[in-house]
Amino acid sequence: MEKDVFCKIIDGEIPAHVVYEDNDVIAILDISQVTKGHTLVIPKKHYDTFLATPNEIMHKVMDVAQKIGQVMIDRLHAKGVNILTNCYEAAGQTVPHFHVHVIPRYEHGDGFILEMKNNAEDINLPALCNSIKTNL
Ligand code: 5GP
Repeated sequence: MEKDVFCKIIDGEIPAHVVYEDNDVIAILDISQVTKGHTLVIPKKHYDTFLATPNEIMHKVMDVAQKIGQVMIDRLHAKGVNILTNCYEAAGQTVPHFHVHVIPRYEHGDGFILEMKNNAEDINLPALCNSIKTNL
């Protein structure tokens, strides 16, 4: 199977702007800066998605994402931060290697649009709640 782009960066085959690195995690500036400072936090070992990542590694990735988010507020003068991970193509994942986006927000209209509308009109919320709850 061909290596994904993040495995190539981790193996030093493609350059990247590395803002953080330890034995398990690397954080790089996203090549497409949705807003100034947009960073990706990535486990060095390959897992396809957040959902497939062991807890211990997932926690290490989230610890780094939290620190970077704090730096964006404290040092980059961001007014907010979106922290998100896309799982599978249907959710917008384009690189099949777990990564967390840390996207600093500066003001409304800063270029990043995250729209979460209420689509619940035809949804049976008690039944939906039950079908999730009973499978956890
Ligand atoms: P996804 O769409 O999978 O949630 O996010 C993948 C991200 O990886 C995108 O935001 C995209 O800009 C970024 N990306 C893709 N190729 C490269 C690359 O070669 N270098 C860096 N730094 N980021 C990349």
